[in-house]
Parts: sequence; structure tokens; C-alpha cells
Amino acid sequence: MVVVINKEAGTSRNGEQSAVLHRHLNHQFLPLERAEGNYLYTAHGRKIFDGSGGPSVACLGWGNERVVDAVTKQLRSAPYCATIFFTTRVAEELGRFLVDSTNGHMARAYIVNSGSEAMEAAVKLARQFFLEKSSPEPQRTRFIARQQSYHGTTLGALAIGGHAYRREHFEPLLPQNVSHVSPCYAYRQQQTSETDEEYVARLARELEDEFQRMGPDTVCAFVAEPVVGAALGCVPSIPGYFKAVKAICDKYGALLILDEVMCGMGRTGTLHAWEQEGVAPDIQTIGKCLGGGYQPVSGVLASHRVVDALSGGSSVFVHGHTYQGHPVGCAAALEVQRIIQQDNLLENVKDMGLLLSKLLVEKLSSHPHVGDIRGRGLFWGIELVADKKTKAVFPSAAHVSMEICERGLSEAYSLSVYPAGGGGAEGLQGDAIIVSPPYTVTKEEIEMVVTTLARMINDYFEVGT
Ligand code: PLP
Repeated sequence: MVVVINKEAGTSRNGEQSAVLHRHLNHQFLPLERAEGNYLYTAHGRKIFDGSGGPSVACLGWGNERVVDAVTKQLRSAPYCATIFFTTRVAEELGRFLVDSTNGHMARAYIVNSGSEAMEAAVKLARQFFLEKSSPEPQRTRFIARQQSYHGTTLGALAIGGHAYRREHFEPLLPQNVSHVSPCYAYRQQQTSETDEEYVARLARELEDEFQRMGPDTVCAFVAEPVVGAALGCVPSIPGYFKAVKAICDKYGALLILDEVMCGMGRTGTLHAWEQEGVAPDIQTIGKCLGGGYQPVSGVLASHRVVDALSGGSSVFVHGHTYQGHPVGCAAALEVQRIIQQDNLLENVKDMGLLLSKLLVEKLSSHPHVGDIRGRGLFWGIELVADKKTKAVFPSAAHVSMEICERGLSEAYSLSVYPAGGGGAEGLQGDAIIVSPPYTVTKEEIEMVVTTLARMINDYFEVGT
């Protein structure tokens, strides 16, 4: 069965033109009425299981009364805080919670509103570190990041990312001081004759060569996602990779910035994804599962090394937003994190993650268009290929993963999962679908998600179940 949805351009689903500038001007948006538990309800009475929490945002599902109460209480007491003069109890408690969660690695938390803002701040903090450390290195102005990466949409964050399609139009506006090396992407880039150690060594050599090419003492930081989210679809690195890149950063005196906006705050089974890599970053960004979608809230965690340099220098981070340290965002994040901790939800992430991976492999790995299934915790990607043997990708113009995800919203499936890679973001190689249910997900829900997803993929490619 192939489900065809009405693709008449230029209207919303109730036939009216949207007055809101979302990403697509002519897309047919579903009118979201309410969200409760793990379900989304549309104005037309449809009930859709939220199998990815949008772009892996939801960690508690929706309508959690404790979070709603914390947010409401904060709105009633101090809804805003001018951080030039004031601080709030919730901001201080959130900062303390975040710092304490890093086992002594981080010294301060800087709270903003989106992942892109967090990445902008991380980049500026790295630059300021080199200007203010006891022996300043003002020549360090360059960054090395990775191809097929996404670190945000504002100009600085976009420049760090290696996202061809999103960069394309704005290339002349982007800072030119970023170069990109290969991601750690075993499915596509590890040679069959290569052991994990050899693959890691090859990537480390490439990074080291890039340091040399740029001039090692001009590099501010290497930037990467521990588990690549939207750009590739939940690709973890090979064991030893992050230890190798951290050693290279240390050798050349550069910082390691880890972007955990999508994979952090418990999504992969540990609060910080870097805990599974045996390294700690100098600067870390966090976002989506910090506030679980209840408020726009993100953050930057700065290590002692970075904070000490600023303390010994100007003592001022030359940056700032009107809404930084926003008390309502902090209240939401604090309550979300308390619930994750008190309800021991990371155990459920691990247990349900194991079940999810097992079922995905059982139900999908033999499909002729499923090339790879990978992920960690409750953060899984299914990579779709035109040809399983050659790993040939679908043309990005076919938007394969986007089409499948969009059809998933129809009544035949009523499942929301998320497109990644080529299908969701044109210009990137590879098409993937992200499954990232809330940390509260049950065994029965996982079974339903995998069965439904298998049906969506089978139906799209018409191979039957
Ligand atoms: N970094 C990563 C890894 C992301 O996945 C995203 C968003 O998807 C961002 C940064 C940017 O976050 P935001 O969309 O909140 O600005």
C-alpha cells in the first residue's frame, strides 16, 4: 500500500494560506491543538504518537504537571531577570545542578534560549579564552569542525557546521576561518579492510594534518557532536575516536568544543554523551532535552580551564542576550532535570534503548533499502539507501526520509518520527529517519513505534510486510 497525502502547494491543511513564516512557505502544516503524554492531537481530531519529540526535544513527553507548575510559579514570581544586575534562585540552582553533573569538569553554566545561541557563545568563549589566558595567544582565530555536520542556523554556528545546503546561500556572509575534516561515520567511511583502531588512526591523522595545514598555533578549537544528530541521523563515533581527537587538541593547545544540543542531557543514556567517550570537553553546549520542549532553553558549560582564564583576565564574558538566564526557562529546565534524576529515567533510557535497537534490527535490518541502524540510548537512526550493496544514496531531491516521515503523520500510521541527512536537509549525503522517544517511553510503545515504522518503510518502498 502506498499512502498518498494531498500535496497541493500554498495552503495549510484547512485550505488557508499560513500567515506564519515557518521554514517552508508552501507547506501544508498540521494544526497542532494540544500535546499530552506521548501523543500529539491535531485540530481535526487526529492522535499521533510522538516517536521523536520533534527533533529529539521531548524527554518527559507533554503535559507534565510538575513542569507546568514550576513554569507557572516562576511566571507569577519573577518572569524576567535583567542579568546585568540580578540573578534568580532558579538560574543559580540550574547552574549548580549542571556544574555538579559534570564530575568536576565544568565550572560555570551560561544559560541562553536556543542551540544556535549556545554555539555562538561557545565559539566566542573559546576566542576569549585565548585572549585572556595568562600567556595570551591572539593569533588563534581558526576552528576545525567536521563535514556533514550541523551546529545551528545563525551565521557563526552555520559557519562551524559543514552543512552544504544550509550554508550554500549564505556562504559569502560566513566567517571563513573554519575548515572541515571527515566525520567519524563508520557505515560510509570506514574501509572494509580497516579495523576500528586503524579507522580512528586515519581520522586522527587527517585532523592532525589539518592542524598542520592551518598552522597549529592558529587553531582555537575543534568542534564536534559526540553522536551526530540531524545531519547524519544518530551516528555515534568509533570507540577511541574522541580520546584521539582530544589528544590532538591537547598536543596543539586547542580547545575541544562538544555540541550536545541534540545528543545531550540523557538522550544517549548518560546525562552527558561525552561520559561514554572517556574525555571531557573544554566547552560543551546543551539544548533540546535541557528543558524538554517546555521552554526555549539551552546552555554552554565552561570548564575550569576556560573560566579560570577569564577570571584571571577581564572577568567579563563579552557577550550577552536580553533573555539570557531567563527565569522561566531555568525553572522549566530545573524541574525537567529533577524529574529525570528523581524518577531514575536514565535507567529507562538505557533499558528501552536496548529494546528499541533490538527491535529495529529485528524488523528492519533485512529490508532492501535499510543500509544501517545505529544510535545510542533512545537516539536511533535508520539510514535508507537506494542500493544496499553499493550504499548508493537516493537523490536528495527525492526527499525520501522527509516523505516517509510526512506519510507517517497520516491516519494510516499516526506516528511522528524525524527526517535526517539528505532527505531532511538537502545537500547532505544519506537519508535517515530518527527515532527518539521520550525517556518515559514504555515497552509497549517501543513495540508499537517499531512495528509502525517498519510498516511505513515497507509501504513507501512497496515491498509489503
Ligand atoms: N547543534 C545541534 C547539534 C543541533 O542539532 C541543533 C539543532 O538541531 C543546533 C545546534 C541548533 O539548535 P537550535 O535549533 O535550537 O538553534
